Amino acid sequence: MFATSLRCLRCGRSATLEPSAYLCPHCGAGNGTTDPGILDVQYDYAEAASAFVASLSTGRHDIFRYLSLLPVSQPGDVLPAGGTPLVAAPRLADRLGLRALYLKDETRNPTRCLKDRATAIAVTIARASGYHDLYCASAGNAAISLAGFCAHQGLTCHAFVPRIASVTRLDWLRRYGARIHVSQGNYDQAFRESEEAGALEGWYSRNCAFNPYLVEGKKTVAFEIAEQLDWQVPDLVVAPVGDGCTLGATGKGFRELRTIGQTEHLPRLIGVQAEAIQPVVRRYQGRTPLETEEETLAASIAVQRPRNYLRLRAELRASHGTMLAVPDSELLEAQSLLSQESGIIPELTSAATLAGLLRLSTEQDLSGQSAVLIITGGRLDSNV
Ligand SMILES: [Zn+2]
Repeated sequence: MFATSLRCLRCGRSATLEPSAYLCPHCGAGNGTTDPGILDVQYDYAEAASAFVASLSTGRHDIFRYLSLLPVSQPGDVLPAGGTPLVAAPRLADRLGLRALYLKDETRNPTRCLKDRATAIAVTIARASGYHDLYCASAGNAAISLAGFCAHQGLTCHAFVPRIASVTRLDWLRRYGARIHVSQGNYDQAFRESEEAGALEGWYSRNCAFNPYLVEGKKTVAFEIAEQLDWQVPDLVVAPVGDGCTLGATGKGFRELRTIGQTEHLPRLIGVQAEAIQPVVRRYQGRTPLETEEETLAASIAVQRPRNYLRLRAELRASHGTMLAVPDSELLEAQSLLSQESGIIPELTSAATLAGLLRLSTEQDLSGQSAVLIITGGRLDSNV
């Protein structure tokens, strides 16, 4: 294994690699106005570089294809996450005036969302460390992902969901046999309740914002995008933003490829939030985030207190990226457009990628550029 240590993204102190090393012991979980001490996995990149190239000829097509830049020593015997197609969308490219537009179709994962990449790491580490119970807080996809992987392995999934959770998503959780804990509050409260229960019971965490190993799984989406484009990095990569883990992880993946000499450039990262709940947009623009009573139909990014902001901010800055907010009406229009002009049906949260890029195209000339939209999931709720 080429992972060497953990480093706090808040104070810069190092911590040792241990399965349940979740947050910096000095900075802790934050208090709502201060950011948590998120830890970041460090690697010996000089050593990992040649192993990375060698691993490309192993014939694996799941996330463990990139084992040398993952925090595990062996591939887990888990459902195969990753290896999803990168689909050209020429009709949408023409509409936006882009040279090329691709959709990273994460709906093809085992439980039909990108979260499976993180879950594959969580379950691999939990199994190797002797855990039988895992927990997570989620408006749907992360919990469903964990429930599916636990079902496959005979492990117990504890899913903490907000008071208002989609009937569709609860049904998926039940089908996988998850133990469902319904909070009396929103996602942020469900997150707190999951952390309290997890600490009390000694369960393994699949909360991506706190468990530093999980973004390592998510970053493989960047490795795949680059490899599928023959190591030519696109100009723009767009993803929806809730806690900030997915886009932060994607940025890390592209940075690592450049570090090991596999690629030459970084794509500009474009993060998109719903207009109703846009704390990351406000913070990145130097404004005070507002705790709001407003709601969005895009439940997967309805996060009032993003817990991985420091990671995302660092990656946005490194890539000269930006954050955008779009109203639900534009999310719905983008969802229809994607379905009718690309053949891939995204869930509303994932449609934020196209809505954001359409918005950006009204502010900047994108002609001649290439872009990738990360279609994080395609689970349709009955009401949207
Ligand atoms: Zn710290």
